[in-house]
Amino acid sequence: MSENYDLVILGGGMGGYVAAIRARQLGLKVAIVEANLLGGTCLHQGCIPTKTLLKSAEIYQSIINSHEFGITTSEPVIHFSAIQNRKKQVVDQLYQGLQYLIEQNGITIYHGFGRLMGPSIFSPMAGAISVEHEDKQENTILIGKSVIIATGTVAKELPNLPFDGQYILSSNQALAMEDLPESMTIIGGGVIGVEWASLLNSLGVKVNLIEAQGHLLTGFDQELAKTLKRSLIKKGIHVLTDTRVAEYEISDNDQVNLVLENKQNKQTLTTNKVLVAIGRRANINQIGLDNTAIETDSSGFIKVNSFFQTKESHIYAIGDCIGGQQLAHVAAHEGKLAVEHIAGKDDKLAIANFAPSCVYSQPEVAAVGITEQTAIDKNINYKVKKMPFSAIGKALVNGDTTGFVKMIIDKDTDDLLGVHLIGNQVTELISEAGLALLLNATASELGLSIHPHPSLSEAIQEIALAIDDQPVHSQ
Ligand SMILES: Cc1cc2nc3c(=O)[nH]c(=O)nc-3n(C[C@H](O)[C@H](O)[C@H](O)COP(=O)(O)OP(=O)(O)OC[C@H]3O[C@@H](n4cnc5c(N)ncnc54)[C@H](O)[C@@H]3O)c2cc1C
Repeated sequence: MSENYDLVILGGGMGGYVAAIRARQLGLKVAIVEANLLGGTCLHQGCIPTKTLLKSAEIYQSIINSHEFGITTSEPVIHFSAIQNRKKQVVDQLYQGLQYLIEQNGITIYHGFGRLMGPSIFSPMAGAISVEHEDKQENTILIGKSVIIATGTVAKELPNLPFDGQYILSSNQALAMEDLPESMTIIGGGVIGVEWASLLNSLGVKVNLIEAQGHLLTGFDQELAKTLKRSLIKKGIHVLTDTRVAEYEISDNDQVNLVLENKQNKQTLTTNKVLVAIGRRANINQIGLDNTAIETDSSGFIKVNSFFQTKESHIYAIGDCIGGQQLAHVAAHEGKLAVEHIAGKDDKLAIANFAPSCVYSQPEVAAVGITEQTAIDKNINYKVKKMPFSAIGKALVNGDTTGFVKMIIDKDTDDLLGVHLIGNQVTELISEAGLALLLNATASELGLSIHPHPSLSEAIQEIALAIDDQPVHSQ
C-alpha cells in the first residue's frame, strides 16, 4: 500500500510532533511514522519522568529541612514504588493529552519502524518511507513531497562498561528501577549525570560522580560549573573529575568493583550500580540514510544547512539527531522552523540562537546566550557582573540563598550577550533573559523593567542595574 502526503515526519518525539502540528496549521497534509510512543524521549524517558522524580526528591528534602521553618514532623519515609507510580501517572496523563492533540489536528500516525528508500517505482527521488509494521503486515510506503527526519538519539555506551540492565545502566534503565540502590556511581558529569547525581543524593543514595574532563557541565560557564561542583560535594556527593573507568568486575556479593584511573594513580571503588551518562549518539543507524545523499558529520549527526535541509533538499532533519543543543524546546523550535521553510514562510530563522540550557539539579543551573569564555575567544569588548542570591530578599524568605546571577553585555552597545544563573528556581527565571535577548534588549532596559517585590526575578533586574553601576540592593 502507498500513500501520498505533503509532509512525512520520521519520528514522533518533541521535534516531530511539534513540526506536524505546525504543518497542519499551515494547511499541509501530514503523517508521522513512530516506532515506539508518540512524545519520544522527552515525554517517556527524559524531561518529564526525570523532573517528576526530582520533584519527589525535593519534597523529601523540604520535609527533612522543615524544622528550619519552625515545623517539625516525624521522619519522612521514601516509598519508591509510589514515587515511580506518580511518575507514570504524570507521563500517562501527558501522553493521553498528546494523542488527543494529534487526533484533533488531523495528523495521521503510522505505527512502525520507518526507513528511507532510494529512488524507486514509488518516487523518482530518494525519501519515500517504508514503514515496517509490528504485526508483520505488508509494509506501507509513504511518499512525501517533503520529509523531516526527527529520530532523536540513544545513550552512548562505554566499550569497556557495556549496559547490562542490572548493574550497568543507561538513563532509560535507571528510570525503570523498582528500588533505590544503596549506592550508585554515575559516569559522566554532563547534564544528565549531574541531574541523576542530585536526584539520587536527595533520596538518600550514596552517590559517586565520575567525570573524565577536569570540570562538570562542559559548555556551561565554568564559574557556574565550579559552584555546582562545590554544592554537590557539600551535599555529600563524591565528585571525581579528570578520572576514567579503566575496568570493572561484578563481585560475588552483587557489587560492582570499578577500577578508576587519573593521571596520578588507580583506585578501586565499590558500588551497587553504575549509571553511564556519557552523552548520546544520533539514532540513525537503521533508517536508510545509505539510500540517499544525506551526509553525517564527524560525530555521526545528520548534516543540515541553516534551513535544516540535508543534502537532499526536500529531506530535512531536526532535533537531537542533528546534534547541537540536545534539548526538547530546541527540537520543537527547529521542527517549526523547518516546516515554515517547507511552506515558504522562513522569516523567523534569525531567532534560532537563543535557546536556554537548564540543569534541574539542586541547585539548578540555567543559561542563555554566550559564556564569558566565548566573549574572550571572540575578542568581544564585554563587561561582566555577578551578584549573589544572598542580596535578594525572596531568596532569604525561601531559605535558600545559594548561587548567583552573572550577566555579560557588549561594552560598546550595552546589548545583552549572555545570562548565567545558579540557584533555586533559576530554570524558571531564565526565560526573561531569553526574551530580553530575543528582543535585543540592553541591560539598561532590563533594569528599567519593574519587577515584583519580593521575587527571585528581582535578581535579573538587580544584575542589570549593577552592570550599569546603579545597583540598589547589592554592592
Ligand atoms: C534523561 C534525559 C533527561 C532529559 N531532560 C531534558 C530536559 O529536562 N529538558 C530538555 O529540554 N531536554 C531534556 N532531554 C533531552 C530531550 O529529551 C530531547 O532533546 C528531545 O526528546 C529531542 O526530541 P527529538 O524529537 O529530537 O527526539 P526524540 O524525543 O528522541 O524522538 C525521536 C522519536 O523518533 C522515533 N524513531 C526513531 N527512529 C525511528 C524510525 N526509524 N521509525 C519510526 N520512529 C522512529 C523514536 O521512537 C522517538 O519517539 C533529556 C534527555 C534525557 C535522555
